[in-house]
Amino acid sequence: MSLVRVTPDGLYCEAGDFYIDPWRPVKTAVITHVHSDHARVGSGFYYATHGSVPLLQHRLGEINCEGKNYGEKFKVGNTWVSLHSAGHILGSAQVRIEHKEDVWVLSGDYKRTFDPSCEPFEVVPCDTFVSEATFALPIYKWQTGAVTAKHLYDWWQSEPERPSIVFCYALGKAQRILAELTAYTDRTVYVHGAVHNLTEIYRAQKISMLPTRLVTDAHKDHDFKGDLILAPPSGHRSPWMKRFKDPQTAFASGWMQVRGARRRKGYEKGFVLSDHADWNELNLTITQTGAKTVYLTHGKTDVLERYLKEKGLTVKLFETDYEDSGEPT
Ligand SMILES: [Zn+2]
Repeated sequence: MSLVRVTPDGLYCEAGDFYIDPWRPVKTAVITHVHSDHARVGSGFYYATHGSVPLLQHRLGEINCEGKNYGEKFKVGNTWVSLHSAGHILGSAQVRIEHKEDVWVLSGDYKRTFDPSCEPFEVVPCDTFVSEATFALPIYKWQTGAVTAKHLYDWWQSEPERPSIVFCYALGKAQRILAELTAYTDRTVYVHGAVHNLTEIYRAQKISMLPTRLVTDAHKDHDFKGDLILAPPSGHRSPWMKRFKDPQTAFASGWMQVRGARRRKGYEKGFVLSDHADWNELNLTITQTGAKTVYLTHGKTDVLERYLKEKGLTVKLFETDYEDSGEPT
């Protein structure tokens, strides 16, 4: 029988009697990372990496949880479990499950591009690899974060008389931008409250980023001219925007590579910056794991499914409940 299967509560490992990133409350949850569609409230016990635990507690409040080091093997039911870096956001992990002679790795969300705000992806050999497929089309091909950050920096510097507001996901993306920008400046960046709290958790874990200041801590006469401001997408066109006079706005996300996405969302500028694997990274990773069987989850799976089958792999799909929160990755 399959070591992991889909149930109404989430991806379930019967031999270990636990769930991976369950979408409903369960007894025992192993969490890959703390984006809201993967880390939900209400479960009895959580395993996560040490890097994830403070973020998990910030998001979910009082919970029973246990932090693990990357690579540390621990017993859950009749299985051995370990967490391995996924390169997605701080603390993000792939879940390796070993039962008898069978080894599965569930990737969670992952990327291979260098990111100074989190640990790099680790290739973990396995028999069965469960891969995300958010950007699983050949049109998706990312530049490095350093190149994108330089574009963002030049855009910011091009308007010294206007505030420059970049909207981005508050967990992971904002901190990555703050870390990437240290290559080009040491200026203080203003942040929305939602970004601030998470950034402080990153700072406490010694992630090197630009200095930040809460927008609400600025003097009431401060005009934000020439300042960079980071805010979550929910801030766009909200009353929060009123304090900025004639700002230029941008959105940073992998989705900015889709033609028309920027215009439809009403931003002046789009920066393509993704925390997910692009087409080449997905294929490279699947090959490197040595897995003979691949399950694909959330995303555009059909093209990749066909492509992998042509290469002789067994490909199956897991219908998951991720992305429902509309996470703009
Ligand atoms: Zn994620």
